[in-house]
Amino acid sequence: MEGASVRKDLLSLLGKEKVLTEELDLMYYSYDSSFLTQLKPETPWAVVLPASTADVQAVMKYAYDHQINVVPRGAGTGETGGSVALNGGIVLDLSNFNEIVEIDQKNMQVIVRPGVIHAELNKRLAEYNLFFPPDPGSSQMCTVGGMVANNASGLRAVKYGCTEQYVLGLEIVLPNGDLIYAGGIKARTLKNVSGLNLTKLMVGSEGVLGVITQIRLRCWPKPKARGIVMAVFDSLDDAPATVLEIYQAGIMPSGMEILDSSAISAVNMYKPEINLPDAEAILLFEVDGNPPSVDYEGNVIQEVAGRRARTVEWSTEPKRMAQLWEGRSVTATAAARVRADGTRVFAGEDISVPLSKVADTLRAIRKLADKYGIKVVNYGHIGDGNVHTAPVINTSIPEEVEQVKKLVHEIHLLAIELNGSTTGEHGVGAVRRPYAEMEHGLAVEYMKKVKQAFDDKGIMNPNKLF
Ligand SMILES: Cc1cc2nc3c(=O)[nH]c(=O)nc-3n(C[C@H](O)[C@H](O)[C@H](O)COP(=O)(O)OP(=O)(O)OC[C@H]3O[C@@H](n4cnc5c(N)ncnc54)[C@H](O)[C@@H]3O)c2cc1C
Repeated sequence: MEGASVRKDLLSLLGKEKVLTEELDLMYYSYDSSFLTQLKPETPWAVVLPASTADVQAVMKYAYDHQINVVPRGAGTGETGGSVALNGGIVLDLSNFNEIVEIDQKNMQVIVRPGVIHAELNKRLAEYNLFFPPDPGSSQMCTVGGMVANNASGLRAVKYGCTEQYVLGLEIVLPNGDLIYAGGIKARTLKNVSGLNLTKLMVGSEGVLGVITQIRLRCWPKPKARGIVMAVFDSLDDAPATVLEIYQAGIMPSGMEILDSSAISAVNMYKPEINLPDAEAILLFEVDGNPPSVDYEGNVIQEVAGRRARTVEWSTEPKRMAQLWEGRSVTATAAARVRADGTRVFAGEDISVPLSKVADTLRAIRKLADKYGIKVVNYGHIGDGNVHTAPVINTSIPEEVEQVKKLVHEIHLLAIELNGSTTGEHGVGAVRRPYAEMEHGLAVEYMKKVKQAFDDKGIMNPNKLF
């Protein structure tokens, strides 16, 4: 079908309040945060802004009957091209479908529509002394629907896990417009082992199986206290070794972050007043819980980290904690500063490796960066081996664009070689699908069969994931 007739049909189906058809509006939807869409933006035929499950069903029934691709989208902060219609079709922008339907405090859960922003949800939950622990760096922008679809996580994953651990049930509109409930139609339980677990299947499915229109999330009691340890290391190997020793001491911090020497100098260039010490690595540990346990854990971490670190500092004082944490929180932005004419590109940015191989990984990435003559900044969630690499290039120089593509490819191969994964939290989308067979082998064929069972016409976010 032609884009023009799809636009006309959608306008008559849903009205102009819910359908975007102007070129300028559509252009916005050609991008997410990935380098891929920066290089090759693709405009959708139309964008629909549903306000209800019925709207989503109407769009899906129409798309199914006419075999038109549909791409669900939250805030478009993904880094994989996942929310962009790379092969034409309709983008379903769920960001306005954002009601917090019910905070069910007595059952420790919350029911939301997909477009609610993560930080907004936690602000509301805090009024009930509750929180939804996964904590992506994009918290102020990303939607909970996008988090569920990408199984997002972040700083706190090391202790609290990823989004999947909190999803109790989902309302899903299938590609043919059918409506199903995963996790029980009426259930308000925290435990449920009844039936095949379609909830888990949908989490992380990146919009290729259906559209998530309602989410039931488990909430946790909000911790009363926190503390931060900063440890400075002269040897890169001492950083992961210290992390292991902290685990062995029986401590599970709520955050364990690393800045290597590249990130330390980027932060100091970006904001000299932060003045991080020159070092091979800085580790930041966050602990949370009740005040006595926070003090106890902070003391153990100081003692253990002190065996290898040049310096260790511990604080529970809010102003000092914010200062200690600032270096980590500005790293992603600071990365671009390592080169005056540079832009940080989001590619090869999310590999995950075994903890025992973090130091080797960082060294290998530095070597690869030298090989291709590209500056990179490395940081990440060391507690679970999730390394974020920020290549910085001048995107208007075609040779650099080609070099960075080669670098990123090698970073992805390196991760697989080291028994890791091409993505720890950001997902696969279009950019990492070439690695699916390498990572999963024959299992990919069974993933395709699952997709076929949900999406027999192949209209749901095609050419993503595998
Ligand atoms: C600065 C920055 C920091 C980031 N930090 C982190 C981090 O720490 N951890 C992390 O995990 N990620 C991080 N990300 C990546 C991204 O923000 C997360 O994956 C986030 O969960 C995506 O949410 P979104 O609403 O923007 O989804 P989108 O980008 O709009 O969509 C992501 C995927 O989900 C699908 N989707 C969206 N909504 C639905 C729905 N309702 N039903 C079905 N499918 C749907 C889309 O089709 C797409 O495949 C970061 C991104 C940026 C730009």
